[in-house]
Amino acid sequence: MRQGEQVQGWTGAMSASDTVDHYLTQAMDRLGLDDAVQEVLRAPQQEVHVRLPVKLSGGRLRVFNGFRVQHNNVRGPFKGGLRFHPEVDLDEVRAMASLMTWKCALVELPFGGAKGGVDCAPDALEPADVEAITRAFTTRVDRLLGPERDIPAPDMGTDARTMAWIFDEWCKLHGRQQAIVTGKPVSLGGSFGREMATGGGLAYVVEEALAHLELDPSQMRVSLQGFGNVGSWAALLLDRLGLSVVAVGEIDRAIINLDGLDIPQMVQNRLAGLPLEDEVEAEVAASEELFDVHADIFVPAALGGSIHGGNVDKLLGATMVVEGANNPTTVEADRALEQEGVYVIPDVLANAGGVVVSYFEWTQNLQHFRWEEEEVNRKLRETMARAYRGVAARSEERDLPLRTTAFEIGVERVVRDARLRSLI
Ligand code: NAD
Repeated sequence: MRQGEQVQGWTGAMSASDTVDHYLTQAMDRLGLDDAVQEVLRAPQQEVHVRLPVKLSGGRLRVFNGFRVQHNNVRGPFKGGLRFHPEVDLDEVRAMASLMTWKCALVELPFGGAKGGVDCAPDALEPADVEAITRAFTTRVDRLLGPERDIPAPDMGTDARTMAWIFDEWCKLHGRQQAIVTGKPVSLGGSFGREMATGGGLAYVVEEALAHLELDPSQMRVSLQGFGNVGSWAALLLDRLGLSVVAVGEIDRAIINLDGLDIPQMVQNRLAGLPLEDEVEAEVAASEELFDVHADIFVPAALGGSIHGGNVDKLLGATMVVEGANNPTTVEADRALEQEGVYVIPDVLANAGGVVVSYFEWTQNLQHFRWEEEEVNRKLRETMARAYRGVAARSEERDLPLRTTAFEIGVERVVRDARLRSLI
């Protein structure tokens, strides 16, 4: 089985970018935007597909495909992560670039939306080969990038080390600029708090939502899919907030304890490169069994399309689905959750913490100044809480799902600024 096969939901009529377009069109129709404006907002400004011939250690030559999609820069430079995963394709990168535009506008950052990807499997490669691929990609797209043009960040399969290689390669070509990439190691100008920002931001949104809905955190059982950067930090902070994380799904197994998993130990194991379940009291089951565990809150934090027509029935008893992953819910599944009254906190809101702290990193770099970790976390928490409250209030006022409302707010802001610039 190829990586991710069991959870990918893009097998039906709608692809990843069709799904994002569906939500976007709903919002644009509700805002009464005419067809020409809709076309401008839907289409990416630029899509680049590069081929990357790389000699791997051992001498074998492989050609990888790299993509960078720049969706919209009305509100600021393009901003978006870089994904390394064997199933990366242009359609999915296009979908995530569009999501970034609406996400940045929703949390009021002065950025547009972009995304990149390379169809490689970093876990199956030597670190030196991942480095060679990263450097090859950077040199092929270097002119698209720049601190005021387009600023990459980590996503699935990439991390601070990958960002350090991009930084190094780009600076060789153009001169040193710390703000060229975010999610860097702290010693190279990364921000304190960036590692935990996406999962932490998600936990802050859950905290706000529970208070708003008058639900007791200590009564909430959480199940998560994916225990990488987003999933592990989300789990840790939800655990610290007093919620009980009862199941963690990974690519090849589910780790379950209905009385609550020892999340700090699992995080320590992940950082030490040990099996997650080492020294943890838990049952280890097949990965699909994650969906059989009843939890009040389900957090997808792996691939897109992971909640689909084939498994959504198992989530209809949940109170909340909080989207750590980008685009994890197909339109069919989203409808089913809505009909059942499951409170879905959409990706553009729930996982925006990463780009919020990327923005903090970028501003610190431009000022050659560093903020303390407490300041970063306080500002992250305030930003996420403000965004949640804005979306929740308007969704209740208009009796709309949070997702439709979040898209509407994002689109409204981009349209306002495009009109101020006389672009549309
Ligand atoms: P990561 O590479 O750090 O972790 C992904 C985890 O998911 C890994 O533990 C991997 O083993 C697991 N996984 C992969 N396929 C799986 C499967 N089929 N079933 C269960 N688990 C599987 O990636 P990440 O940075 O944590 O990103 C996860 C998701 O969050 C992605 O959708 C990404 O776009 C989104 N996201 C990430 C950030 C960020 O700052 N890193 C920001 C916003 C959104």
